[in-house]
Amino acid sequence: MNDINKDPAAQSQVEVAKTKEQKHIERQKKIKANVDKRVAQATEERGVFVVITGNGKGKSTSGFGTVLRAIGHGQKAGVVQFIKGTKWECGEMNILKQFSVQHHVMGTGFTWETQSTETDIAAAKVAWQKSKEMLSDESLDIVLLDEMTYMVKYGYIELDEIIEAVNNRPKMQHVLITGRACHRRLLELADTVSEVQPIKHAFNAGIMAQKGLDW
Ligand code: ATP
Ligand code: MG
Repeated sequence: MNDINKDPAAQSQVEVAKTKEQKHIERQKKIKANVDKRVAQATEERGVFVVITGNGKGKSTSGFGTVLRAIGHGQKAGVVQFIKGTKWECGEMNILKQFSVQHHVMGTGFTWETQSTETDIAAAKVAWQKSKEMLSDESLDIVLLDEMTYMVKYGYIELDEIIEAVNNRPKMQHVLITGRACHRRLLELADTVSEVQPIKHAFNAGIMAQKGLDW
């Protein structure tokens, strides 16, 4: 029978494993100490401005997911959708409406393709007015401005006005803006910015947008 205590090769294997384990424990301790230190340093409590941008899939779902997270804690939310799919309803809103979320969808059939019509601009102004009301409403814990980045890109809403409204919102209110090609000044102002990178998208393999997954 192979007795490990008498087999030098097996013994050295055990030693290597022990050293590896020891190194792993030490590494984990260092990581924990670092995390603990940073947690201790994060003492401020206030509303956070989040931008979720980039060309990959996951921006709006992240925004709606965060609203759901807040509602799950009994908080109050407002949502303005600046681009409404002309063909599809929004699955998330079907649920969120049941939780008395304040909600506004920009009128007209504005999509990424049709722009610059008078009616689109007028609808954008109304949606922005609703957004401003939400951004000054003390009772709202979180406000999602879905696809708002395009309104800035097309010049439908004044950037300075957005910055002013975000800066003057209630101290504890969180605000999320989603959409591609977010303006540099909004990225600078935001506390948290995530860029979703497309590595692959099913659509490019000929798979059409799927109910429950894409809308
Ligand atoms: P989602 O609502 O799924 O989180 P999104 O908000 O990140 O997507 P948008 O740019 O708003 O993306 O596009 C909305 C629709 O386009 C969704 O149906 C989404 O699946 C699809 N889409 C998103 N990114 C891509 C991409 N890189 N290529 C093709 N289709 C995309
Ligand atoms: Mg989106």
